[in-house]
Amino acid sequence: MKRDIHPKYMPARVTCACGNSFVTRATKPEIRVDICSNCHPFYTGRQKLVDTERRVERFQQRYARYREREKELQEKSSQAS
Ligand SMILES: [Zn+2]
Repeated sequence: MKRDIHPKYMPARVTCACGNSFVTRATKPEIRVDICSNCHPFYTGRQKLVDTERRVERFQQRYARYREREKELQEKSSQAS
């Protein structure tokens, strides 16, 4: 192996967004991932939304507001008649 051109290979802790973590070896001591074999749908068999940008949450919030407004309008129209 040629000297001084290879990155250092060291034990590395991989931390997943689901809370799972394990140790492997890499050129960086710490690795953060969004999904791992503990939480990926392929291994769990359950559906999981990978919502890094919180888009699903924002959609649900917006839709909840719209539903509320619709209810208010319905109440108003029932009072009028
Ligand atoms: Zn995970």
